[in-house]
Amino acid sequence: MTTQITRHFLFVLTFSALFVAAPQIAAQSLLIQNVTLIDGTGAAPVEGVSVLVEEGRFVKISQDEMRTPSGVSVVDGTGKFLMPGIIDSHIHLPGGRAGPGNRQMVIDRSVGLKSLAAYLYSGVTAFYDSGNNAEYIYQMREDERAGRILSPRIYATVSLIAPPDGHGCCAGGTVVNDYEDGVKKLDALFKMKPDLLKFTRERRGMGPVGRNIPLLEQGLMNKLVAYAHANDIRTTVHVSEVALARESIEAGTDAFAHTVYLDDANKDFATLVADKGIILSTTMTRIEADTSFLDEPLYVATISEETRAAIRASERFNGSPYTGWLSSLRPAIMKNIKTLHEAGAILAMGTDRSLGPLPHQELKVIVESGITPVDAIRMGTLNAAAYIGVEDEIGSIEEGKLADMLLLNADPTVDINNTTEIHSVYKGGVWIDRAALDVPANQH
Ligand SMILES: [Zn+2]
Repeated sequence: MTTQITRHFLFVLTFSALFVAAPQIAAQSLLIQNVTLIDGTGAAPVEGVSVLVEEGRFVKISQDEMRTPSGVSVVDGTGKFLMPGIIDSHIHLPGGRAGPGNRQMVIDRSVGLKSLAAYLYSGVTAFYDSGNNAEYIYQMREDERAGRILSPRIYATVSLIAPPDGHGCCAGGTVVNDYEDGVKKLDALFKMKPDLLKFTRERRGMGPVGRNIPLLEQGLMNKLVAYAHANDIRTTVHVSEVALARESIEAGTDAFAHTVYLDDANKDFATLVADKGIILSTTMTRIEADTSFLDEPLYVATISEETRAAIRASERFNGSPYTGWLSSLRPAIMKNIKTLHEAGAILAMGTDRSLGPLPHQELKVIVESGITPVDAIRMGTLNAAAYIGVEDEIGSIEEGKLADMLLLNADPTVDINNTTEIHSVYKGGVWIDRAALDVPANQH
């Protein structure tokens, strides 16, 4: 036993030594004084707050004068705004897949690490990977949890569940043929501990011309969702239309990886979703057909000129019928978001675009849909944590939670664009040195 532990310990030490940028520094005690607090719960901002962080967690949050314990570094929050670190509830971390339709499984950690740096630089301190190359994302997540890489907190489905030839089947998905096959494959996947298991239920796919894509037979899906629940694993489903979303509700899903965007989420549907407590990832920038945001400072700072040029030239943006199709969906998804929100459904900010700064754009579009900045911020923090199922640990600035937070120079509750006015980023109470992150802004 002792030998085993020692060997494991040595392995970790050796492994850590391979990564030069010794990432996770022990959390220091920290006192942020006289800051305006936006705690992520949807509460109105509170001025003149002091926030004490010890051992990586918020231990005291108060408007009363706080004595400065010895050995605590003090940050003057005067004129600044403190909010939880942003959480993207839907990404696919680059570096695990390549080629048309992401059908080729690769492991390119350098691509992944650059992407992680862009997220941290942008104030994103956690995300949920909604489907990837299992081997790749599993290892990245384990490395993050062990403190071997500098990264937002990584949560993942590891591999999504799809029917043969179904949506997501061939981009790292786990293909399930029948119940017996499903149980065998889910058991294997459960060894990799999915944080939230994703299924797909899609019959037409993206683009102006719909295809006829096979679905998991309803009875089979019901049983597999139940099997995940029996193993204490929550589930989310890729859906794009109301009928398939209703079938997923019948199967007992806990979440949706998108709000429906192909048809009208009427009040009936929105009320059903709200009553069931289903959490939906917003993914409005998934249908973004505009590239103007790519010139904004945060994008220039974190995404290479080459990548930004490639995005501009992509089918999504080049004025093709695909671009037109995306634009045509925008009014519907904006209306659906508002209907769902007003019915009391829980919306979690998610982009499905895997670009570090994009959550800020998603928040902006959420607000353009008629949602207040304070509610949008909750979607990008506490609700996104709830989507993943980690709301007891992260997502809001409340005593006992992990100190993932952003100090901003301007008030995001008066203008949501101010979430980009980042002064400092902290993960678990550890200050992230943004000037040292591997992003274009730091390459001179
Ligand atoms: Zn996705």
